[in-house]
Amino acid sequence: MPTATPEDELVFLPLGGSNEIGMNFNLYGFGPAYDRRWIVVDLGVTFGDQTTPGVEVILPDPTFIEEHAERILGIVLTHAHEDHIGAVAWLWPRLKAPIYATPFTAFVLREKLREADLLDEARIIEAPLGSSIDLGPFQIELITLTHSIPEPNGLAIRTPLGAVLHTGDWKIDPEPLLGGATDVAAIRRLGDEGVLAMVCDSTNVFVDGRAGSEAEVLETLMPLIVGLKGRVAVACFASNVARMDSVARAAEAAGRRVCLVGRSMRRMAAAAKSVGLMQDLKPFLEEQESKSFPPQQVLYLCTGSQGEPRAALARIADGTHPHVALGQGDHCIFSSRVIPGNEIPIRNLQNKLADRGVRLLTERDHPGIHVSGHPCRDELADMYHWARPQIAVPTHGERRHLLEHCAFARDLQIPQQIAPRNGDMVRLAPGRADIIDEVPSGRLFVDAGVLTPENGEALRERRHAAYNGVVTVSVVLDGRGKIVSGPQVRALGLPTDDDYPLEDVLDDLADEAEQALARLKGEDRELDDAIETAMSRAVKKASQRIWGRRPVVETTVLRI
Ligand SMILES: [Zn+2]
Ligand SMILES: [Zn+2]
Repeated sequence: MPTATPEDELVFLPLGGSNEIGMNFNLYGFGPAYDRRWIVVDLGVTFGDQTTPGVEVILPDPTFIEEHAERILGIVLTHAHEDHIGAVAWLWPRLKAPIYATPFTAFVLREKLREADLLDEARIIEAPLGSSIDLGPFQIELITLTHSIPEPNGLAIRTPLGAVLHTGDWKIDPEPLLGGATDVAAIRRLGDEGVLAMVCDSTNVFVDGRAGSEAEVLETLMPLIVGLKGRVAVACFASNVARMDSVARAAEAAGRRVCLVGRSMRRMAAAAKSVGLMQDLKPFLEEQESKSFPPQQVLYLCTGSQGEPRAALARIADGTHPHVALGQGDHCIFSSRVIPGNEIPIRNLQNKLADRGVRLLTERDHPGIHVSGHPCRDELADMYHWARPQIAVPTHGERRHLLEHCAFARDLQIPQQIAPRNGDMVRLAPGRADIIDEVPSGRLFVDAGVLTPENGEALRERRHAAYNGVVTVSVVLDGRGKIVSGPQVRALGLPTDDDYPLEDVLDDLADEAEQALARLKGEDRELDDAIETAMSRAVKKASQRIWGRRPVVETTVLRI
C-alpha cells in the first residue's frame, strides 16, 4: 500500500441513493483535490410513478463525474438489482470505465449491454467471489454477504488513508439456501485491521429484530403449496433466485410442474443456471406447453407482484394473458412485500384477481411467505459490532431512514455519524469527517427512449395536459391578415354537458379567438407570433371561465 502525501484526501460522494431508496450511484475519490482518482460503486435506476406520466425509468445525473471521466479507474457493482446496475447500459457511454462484477451480476449486465448494443465496447471484468480488485490507490476486497439475489457483495475498500466497508445491500441470513452465508470472518478481520468508515444499507432501520431466513420461507411455502387445489400462481421478484428455487421445490413436492411467466423470470432463471444454480430442478414448462396440463399439475411463477401494469400477473388479472388464466377455485400467493408507493396498483391488481374468484394469500394473512432482504436493527447492530467503524455513513434510505440510522449508530458508540444528501462530498480522511463540497446531482428521465432532464419541457407539458386538457385553435389568413378560414377550435380531455354542449363551447371559444384577432393593430396582424399569443390568451381566459382551469392551448396560423 503506497503512503499518503499531506495533500491526499479520501472522499465519499453519493450521486444517487442517499435520501431515497433506489438509483444507487456512489463515488469514492482519492488524492489531492486538484488530482483525484475515482471509483464508482454501483450505477442503478429508480422507477417513475404517477407524477411522471410516461416515464418508467429514472437515472442519476452523472454530469459531475462525466467531466472527470478519464479519472475513473473502474465501476464496481455490488449485486445485480436494478437499483444498483440498471443505469449502466444508459450511462456507460458517458463514463467508459472498465466494469467489475461477480459472475451472476456480469451475466445479467451482459444481457442489458447486448440490448443496448454496447457489448463489444464495454469491458466487463469478472471478479470471482471473495477476490480482490486493485484500482490505483483503492484495494478492493469482495466480501460475500447475503441478500435477496445471488452473489451480493460488500466491498472492503483499503486506501492509504484508511479502509471503508461499503456494505451494499445485505441482511444476515444464516441459511440463504443458495450461495454462501455472510463472511463474518472477513468482516471481523477488517474490523481488527481498523475500519475508518462504514457506508451502510438503511432500508429496514425502523424494523426491530431480524429479517428472517429464506430457509424459513421454504418451510412455510412447502406445506402451504402442497395443500392447495386448483391452479396456483406465485408472484415474487424474479431476481430472488432462492425464492424461485424454493417455490419450484414446493411445486415438485405438490406434484406440480413450474411454468415461468414473464420475461424477467426467464432471464433470471437463465442467469442463475449460468452460475450453476437451480441445476437439479425439473425443466420449467413453456407458457404454451402449460395449457395441456391439468390445473392441479402446474404452478405459475409470475412477475408483477408490485402491480406493474405490463407484467404477467397484471395481464392474468385482466384476462388478457395469451396462455395463462386464473379463475374460481384458483390461488395466487404473493411471496413479496408491498414496496412503498406501490400500494394502489397492488390493491387494484388484487381486487381484479379476487373478482375472478381467485383466492389471495399474502404476507398479511400468511406470515412467513416472504422475508426482507435488508438488515433490521439486530442485524445492523451485529455488523457494527464486527466492523467497528470510526464513522457511520448511512445510505440506501430516505431522509428519515438515514437520520434514524445515525441515531442508532450513536447509541452503538460509533464515534462519528454523517448522513450526506446526493451531491454532498464527504471527506472521510484526514481529520474529522465533514461535507467539504456540494457538486451537481439530480435525475435524468428516460422518456420514450430519450434521456431528458427531470424538469424537461416535454414532461411538464404532458403533466399540464393530463390535469387540464388541451385546446387547439387554427386559423387561415391571407397576406394582409384577413381571415380566410377559421378560427377552428378543438378540445381534448375537457368535459361538457347537455346544458352547454360541446358545439356551443367550441363556437364560443372560436368567437373569443376571432375577437382577439380583430383587436390586433395593423402591423401585429402580420406577425404570426403576435396573433398566436393573442388568440391563445383569449382562449385560456375563456376556458378559465367555462371550466375553471387553464388547458394547454396550441394555436396554429396558416398563411395563403
Ligand atoms: Zn438496493
Ligand atoms: Zn439489492
